[in-house]
Amino acid sequence: MSYQLNDKITGLKPYEPITGEYPIRLDANESFLQPSAIMRAKISMEIVDGGLNRYPDPLCKKACKAFADYYNIDAANVTAGNGSDELLMLLPMAFLKKNERMLVFEPDFSMYKFYSYLTENQVICMPKKKDLTIDLDAAAHLINEQNIKAVVFSNPCNPTSLGISRQQIIDFIKSVGDCLVIVDEAYMDFWDSYQSIVTIAAQFDNVICLRTMSKAIGMAGIRMGFAVANKTITQALRSVKSPYNCNSLSQTAAEIILSDKQYIDNCIDTIKQSRDYLYNKAIELFAYRPDVVIYPTCTNFIFILAPDAEGTYELLRENGVVVRLMGNYLRVTAGTQEENDRVLELLRQFL
Ligand SMILES: *Cc1c(COP(=O)(O)O)cnc(C)c1O
Repeated sequence: MSYQLNDKITGLKPYEPITGEYPIRLDANESFLQPSAIMRAKISMEIVDGGLNRYPDPLCKKACKAFADYYNIDAANVTAGNGSDELLMLLPMAFLKKNERMLVFEPDFSMYKFYSYLTENQVICMPKKKDLTIDLDAAAHLINEQNIKAVVFSNPCNPTSLGISRQQIIDFIKSVGDCLVIVDEAYMDFWDSYQSIVTIAAQFDNVICLRTMSKAIGMAGIRMGFAVANKTITQALRSVKSPYNCNSLSQTAAEIILSDKQYIDNCIDTIKQSRDYLYNKAIELFAYRPDVVIYPTCTNFIFILAPDAEGTYELLRENGVVVRLMGNYLRVTAGTQEENDRVLELLRQFL
């Protein structure tokens, strides 16, 4: 008998972002800004100065401290991951046992479901309402009814771009008792810091708040994400992760960037302006089209329901602009002024 892959992994395909050369990439919600030449030089210098023959700090203390200082929280409640994706993979693996139930919503970030599936949890998937918001009361009811051990969702949401207020999140957390609530705040910097639970996550016994350097902070290439939770959860998370999950190059880069509050604040302001421009122009453009819906955005992208989204996607692509196609929806990341103007011009022609 020859070796056979098990049926859990046969047929899976590697995650493949759009490949090929496109002048305008608005498909991955990346930042269009990057650190100045001076900052990049500083990062390079400190990276080469570090002892690359030695293993990195397993607890990533300096970067966690810089992260904690930026958000005004206690570094003792922070765990660093190789992108928040690594943490998202670890959570079901460690905090749920085989066949225990994890609740996700549809549509939401697709990796939640996937990691849970790999870990052999039972994934319970609750569709969002017609307006693409979560029915939090129904979700709490289901969690309590079906003995669901963990729930995960993005806030603000990728892909819908909608946000759930902090008060609603707090009420929800309190209504699900012993279920672990994982709130992925990858896009929170683009909304409103008052809506974040990052400063209060550690006060609950059942909450993990995830953040990433990949979006507002513009460092998707270094793969750094953070989990914020109380001491018990933090201790568990640090114990289950692989010891040297964040390499020393990324730790150094993360510490330098996170210590530069002004740089991050400027990035966030600039991206929010770009997002507002893209959103307002798109709303104007489709004011006369009741069949096109543009959702209010709390993120760095806009989410559009359009008839013939697929055709529009293809036409944009033929013209060198890639966005994300999701069924009848298009997700368009805010880019530079020129990129925004180009995608708006093409949308005007095609829709
Ligand atoms: C982009 C994104 C992340 C970030 O993942 P990293 O692994 O930190 O790059 C996490 N959650 C959501 C919802 C995202 O859109």
